[in-house]
Amino acid sequence: MTTRIGVAVIGAGFAGIAVAARLRAAGHDVRIIERAPRVGGTWRDNVYPGVACDVPSHLYSLADHPHPGWSTQFAPGGEIRDYLERIVAESGLHDVLRLGVALEHADWDAHARRWRLTLAGGETLHADALVLACGRLVEPRLPDVPGIASFPGPVLHTARWDAGFDPAGKRIAVIGTGASAVQLVPQLARRGAEVTVFQRTPAWIVPRGGRDYTTAERDRFARHPELIAALRARLLADDEARFAARAGHDRAAADAARSEATRHLAAQVPPGALRARLTPDYPFGCKRVLRSDDIYPVLASGAAVLEPSALAAVEEGVLVAASGARYADIDAVVLATGFHAQRQPYAEIVRGEDGMSLADHWATGMTSFASTVVAGFPNLFVLNGPNAALAHTSSLLILEEQAGYVTRALGRRTAHGGVLRTRPEAERGYTASIDRRARGTSWLGGCDSWYRDDRSGRLTLLWPGTVADFRAMMAAADGSEFEPAFDSDGRPLTPERLAHYQEV
Ligand code: NAP
Repeated sequence: MTTRIGVAVIGAGFAGIAVAARLRAAGHDVRIIERAPRVGGTWRDNVYPGVACDVPSHLYSLADHPHPGWSTQFAPGGEIRDYLERIVAESGLHDVLRLGVALEHADWDAHARRWRLTLAGGETLHADALVLACGRLVEPRLPDVPGIASFPGPVLHTARWDAGFDPAGKRIAVIGTGASAVQLVPQLARRGAEVTVFQRTPAWIVPRGGRDYTTAERDRFARHPELIAALRARLLADDEARFAARAGHDRAAADAARSEATRHLAAQVPPGALRARLTPDYPFGCKRVLRSDDIYPVLASGAAVLEPSALAAVEEGVLVAASGARYADIDAVVLATGFHAQRQPYAEIVRGEDGMSLADHWATGMTSFASTVVAGFPNLFVLNGPNAALAHTSSLLILEEQAGYVTRALGRRTAHGGVLRTRPEAERGYTASIDRRARGTSWLGGCDSWYRDDRSGRLTLLWPGTVADFRAMMAAADGSEFEPAFDSDGRPLTPERLAHYQEV
């Protein structure tokens, strides 16, 4: 049996919920398909001890759904998941949400001019439009370490935490020193584990700060939601002011930001070998800058031990570091090794015009127009995909713009004969403008990171501008990025108009 629907949204994390709520409010027939039994995306999956968001809670929320009740300035993961569940309930999304059903294939049906979705179990849906809100930090990246499969004890990835795993009294090797590891390691030490941290590359780390909100503050936010809006605006303005330092455009600002991180390290780790090992040798901001007040003290006190090299092999239960050091007495290995962010698994199962998959289209790295639509994939929108993350502030701000863009674009569908076909030159122009913006930034400045594609070296994850730049770019996208060669007012697209894409 085939059911015809309006807009299919795949995924019920932040992106899926935000866009579905917006589309529903605009009167669209929306269905959300989620393979897990619960909503929440990354905040459902990541339940390792210490999981939290290092972006301030009131900025790491949706503007349409202010939440006066955040308990603290940096919300724990469980509270964020509860927030998403509340939005689903408040926006009446339960009746359009299907949980526990995986999308197996999405194929553009050129004849019917619709997406044909095949769900696990064989059911098919026909959707006028498809929104991929499948997340970017979803599939755990397991390091290619010889012998790791033979390790006799538990091997856990941070995003696949086992709630029954008790760290107390165990000797645990944590592999990696990214955002997940710096949250986890102090918590494991606090819970009585003996932790060894395998650090391939040190991170730049700045102070986190943060405190709990008082009951009086939360009551005030509830009575005066305009205070939340004002706080968001202030937090965003502060972050935007830091953009030039993160991007590396402003050398003096970047030096000052690096000095803050260096002072933070010096204040918490005495001079000597450990401090030297924790000092990065690549530009500030090249990899994600971490916020932590407790990782350095845990390492400096010896509550956790630093192995200053990668995990290279596991030989008969012994962990062998790239330095040659051998760890024979480890009970459990925790992989804080991140996600497959550059090669999104959903790209394999989505086929557009001529049967080409998104993975084929993105064979040398993700590209798009407006970080959201892709040539050859009509009536398709990708959230959290190409150049849609931010390094200097809350990535939800991009997501909110994308949700607005999807809503506006779908409103233009009739003017385009029901099919929004992204013009290839619009995508090429946008890609060129991304490359221009990325040139000379710290993100291309000599480190390996998941912000760049390892096939092309291009910056494919981050939007290399401010939030204001992104909003301006989105505001300029007036629908002329879609075929046919007439815009929604019936004006022919002139060469001048096309040249506009080179300037976006
Ligand atoms: P990540 O940033 O990709 O870090 C992975 C770590 O694993 C890196 O330190 C990497 O080293 C290391 N690694 C990989 N293979 C290794 C090996 N064989 N030996 C030793 N180290 C190895 O992953 P993540 O920490 O899970 O974070 C992923 C993203 O999730 C973050 O960047 C962030 O966007 C998000 N996140 C956010 C928060 C938050 O508070 N907002 C919290 C957690 C996660 P190299 O650096 O040398 O590659």
